[in-house]
Amino acid sequence: MNKKIIYLSPSSINLYLTCPLLYKNKKVDIKKDSRFLRYGSWAHKCTEEYVKSDAKKDILKIAKSNFTKYDIDLDDFLDGQKVLKRFINREYLQYKILGSEIKLQDILSNGVALRGIIDLLVERDHETLEVIDYKSGWKFYTLSMINKNMQLKVYKNLVLNQEEYKQYKNIILTIDPLRYEPLSVVHDEVDNETFLDWISEMYTKITKDNDLKPNFPNPFCKGCHITNLCEDYKNYNKFDFKLKMDVNKKLEHYYQLKNLKKVLNQDLDYYKEFFKDYAHKNNTDVVSSNKYELKIKNNYMGLIKK
Ligand code: SF4
Repeated sequence: MNKKIIYLSPSSINLYLTCPLLYKNKKVDIKKDSRFLRYGSWAHKCTEEYVKSDAKKDILKIAKSNFTKYDIDLDDFLDGQKVLKRFINREYLQYKILGSEIKLQDILSNGVALRGIIDLLVERDHETLEVIDYKSGWKFYTLSMINKNMQLKVYKNLVLNQEEYKQYKNIILTIDPLRYEPLSVVHDEVDNETFLDWISEMYTKITKDNDLKPNFPNPFCKGCHITNLCEDYKNYNKFDFKLKMDVNKKLEHYYQLKNLKKVLNQDLDYYKEFFKDYAHKNNTDVVSSNKYELKIKNNYMGLIKK
C-alpha cells in the first residue's frame, strides 16, 4: 500500500514551529472564525476578482458584492475600501499577469513535499517572474523580514519546480502589506541552498516525529482548544512547576506570558512579585513594575545579572 505523502504548507510549518503538539492536532484546533481572518479572506477575494477581471471591474463594487458573504465588520469594510483603492495602482499590476490564487503542490528534488497558494504571479520580462503575497493585516514589514520570509521561499521553490516556469532565470519575491508599500527581494542561489537544507531537516522532523511535544507558552495558548491534551498547560498552574524554573527561565516566561495576559493574569502577578522579591534579596536591577510591565535595568528576556 502506498504511504500517504504529507505536503507541508507555510502555515502548517509555522504552526509546527509555534507548537508541535498543536500542529499534530490542528484538525480539531484551528479557530477559523475571527474578525481578522474574515477581513483577510474578503480582501484577498476582492483583489483576486479584480485581477481576474483584467482590471475591468470596479473594485469598490467587488468589495460591496462580497461584504455580506464574508460577514466583515462595517469599520473593517470602510477601512478596506481605502486599502483596495490603493491596491489598484500597484506597479506590478501593469505587468503580464500569469495567475492569481495559484494552487501549487509538488515534491522538490530533495524529497520535501510542499504546497501553497500564491496570491499573484506576474511576468516582469521574459527572464523574470515576480511572486507577490498580500498581507491584509496591520503588521509593518522590513526588507530583512522579507529576506527571511519562509513563505516566499516555499513559493519560489514551488514555482521553480514547475515546467512552465523553467525558462525564467530570476524570481523577485514581494510582500505587499496592502496598507503600506510593497517590499521586494531577489533571493539568490546561496540563500536558497541554505533554505533547502533547513526545509529538508524540518520536513523530516515534522513528518517522522510521532511524539510531538507542546511548546509552552506561546501566543496560541490563549485560544488553544486542546489544553486537555497539553501536560505543560495543565502543569503550569502547579506551584512546583514554576518553582523548578531558574530565575532567567522565569524572566523569559514572564515576557512570553505578557502576550497571554487576558487569560493568565495570575501568572504575571506571580512573576512580578517573584522578581521584586528576587531583586530585593539579590541586589539585582529591577527598577519598576506596574500591573503588566516589569522593567529590569540593562536586562531583557532572561538576562538577570547579580
Ligand atoms: S496550550 Fe499552548 S503549548 Fe499546549 S498545546 Fe496548546 S498551544 Fe501548545
